[in-house]
Amino acid sequence: MSTFQNLGLNQDLLQAITDLGFETPSDVQQKAIPILLEQETDLVALAQTGTGKTAAFGFPMLQKINIDSRTTQGLILSPTRELCLQIASEMKLYGKYCKGLNVVAVYGGASITEQAREIKKGAQIIVATPGRMKDMISRRLVDISKIEYAVLDEADEMLNMGFYEDINDILSHTPEDKCTWLFSATMPKEVAVIAKKFMESPQEITVGNKNESTNQVSHEYYLVNSRDRYNALKRLADANPDIFSVVFCRTKRDTQKVAEQLIEDGYNAGALHGDLSQNQRDLVMNAFRKNQIQMLVATDVAARGIDVDDVTHVINYQLPDEIETYTHRSGRTGRAGKTGVSMVIVSKSEVRKIKSIERIIKKEFVKKDIPNGMEICEVQLMSLANKVHNTEINHEIDKYLSNINELFADTSKDELIKKFFSVEFTRFYNYYQKAKDLNVSEGRGDDRDSGRDFGGSSNSTRYFINVGSKDGYDWMKLKDFLRESLELGRDDIFKVETKDSFSFFNTENELKEKVLAYFTDFKHNGRFVNVEVSENRKGGGGKRRDRKRGGGDRRSRRSEGNFKSDNAKSNKSSKRSKKGFKSNEMAASRPRRSRR
Ligand code: ADP
Ligand code: MG
Repeated sequence: MSTFQNLGLNQDLLQAITDLGFETPSDVQQKAIPILLEQETDLVALAQTGTGKTAAFGFPMLQKINIDSRTTQGLILSPTRELCLQIASEMKLYGKYCKGLNVVAVYGGASITEQAREIKKGAQIIVATPGRMKDMISRRLVDISKIEYAVLDEADEMLNMGFYEDINDILSHTPEDKCTWLFSATMPKEVAVIAKKFMESPQEITVGNKNESTNQVSHEYYLVNSRDRYNALKRLADANPDIFSVVFCRTKRDTQKVAEQLIEDGYNAGALHGDLSQNQRDLVMNAFRKNQIQMLVATDVAARGIDVDDVTHVINYQLPDEIETYTHRSGRTGRAGKTGVSMVIVSKSEVRKIKSIERIIKKEFVKKDIPNGMEICEVQLMSLANKVHNTEINHEIDKYLSNINELFADTSKDELIKKFFSVEFTRFYNYYQKAKDLNVSEGRGDDRDSGRDFGGSSNSTRYFINVGSKDGYDWMKLKDFLRESLELGRDDIFKVETKDSFSFFNTENELKEKVLAYFTDFKHNGRFVNVEVSENRKGGGGKRRDRKRGGGDRRSRRSEGNFKSDNAKSNKSSKRSKKGFKSNEMAASRPRRSRR
């Protein structure tokens, strides 16, 4: 078995490795380190996230640069600010015994002059995001003309994010004869293209199969009506009391909404998306790193930088638009040799996407059922029992013991245990005892237009619009048209139903004025488009639908009723939690896991 000692690393680095607690080099480290140490070569290394790529290029770079010189010799480009900071801090740890080493991180959203000052002190290694690096070069705040080693880390992500031109520009300021090391999780065509363009007969190493998702991650999907999405999410969280998860939504708006709702329902949740200020994002990420946030709700772009090892679950609240993105999402868990679960909540209309994803990740999904209320109660009860069992006794209690004992003088141990657990459990039980089954079987139910994930559907207004399938609209096109015209979010238009020459749709009541105002004297493609409040029952279908399949309306009303009661209960519980009780979901009462 290979050890760090026989990879050829020097004493300073080996000492740091011991301090870090790394025992054996990972596959990519075993393959890359000897090559990079012994040869002046270009390299393409393909390995999944969490396989230790930072050390694979970091150790050789630290060993090969001249630390006595203050010239910048190593440049590491990485796609996001978070990754950039992460790599810089890892490099500092790896090089903690390399006296005089100066690693500087360069990224947007922070003072450029401060970063320039740091570099001026003599940075042998710069870790940078492409955008800020380009900026610094054009302002002549940095000199990379003597770079010997350039790393393109997460090259696929950088290209995904549109950094091709920036990378091109940056590398044109570096010497021809430097070594370029490219690290990537996947090898799409674009990466092959930059490998060809920027590198000279690079050596290639691959760990695991190209473009394959990590083995450490199992993939599950849950089929529900999309209006039950949010409740399904809560149940998945409740069924995993120690969850530490990233929850992916498609839009910033959904991200914010889901996070807010989770917080209101008593979970340790936070939102991460591009509309937040850098400062807000830092606060959320720090809380997440410290495990103070158990459910980080994020957009794909914002989550690119998340590099936290202990994530137990990735939850796809909605599937990404581009199914290729799924690999990046699921790669947030199962890192550093740990196992992880990637869960997908799907509605019937999306379930076929699962098959396409399976082809990409070359792994099969397991279809699972959303746990029912009693299953969740059992999990929570046992988790509580274990927690109690493992709790270290606080002896401050000793002095009150005789009083407490007096109170329980006539209580048997069994009875005491039952009482004790009831304190936590009854609240939970009350919430879940009548909870409905959220699962949908593959053959049943028509979920297309029930895109209502959040509460309050009975507060909605039903509209009539004088365009329909004759005008080329199906429900999706009409929904998109309305959303775009009115500049609304994904969930604002729902229950869209297209007929031949007219259609129906719903919004929340508060949007009524806006909708009606917008469509007053509105012309589209030369004809008047007319929108009126439908005289039919709120939230229900149009007349025809009522007559044809009266069940449809009843069904939707029934489910709304259920949703409302779910919601009403959770609201009550969150009020209670304000009075000092923890919420019914027990999220707040879960111990905050401390990392490592
Ligand atoms: P990647 O860049 O491939 O996604 P990282 O370099 O971020 O992976 O490493 C993931 C985690 O694994 C980090 O926390 C790192 O400290 C840890 N790690 C790296 N190499 C080893 C090793 N040989 N033994 C144990 N942990 C390691
Ligand atoms: Mg990395």
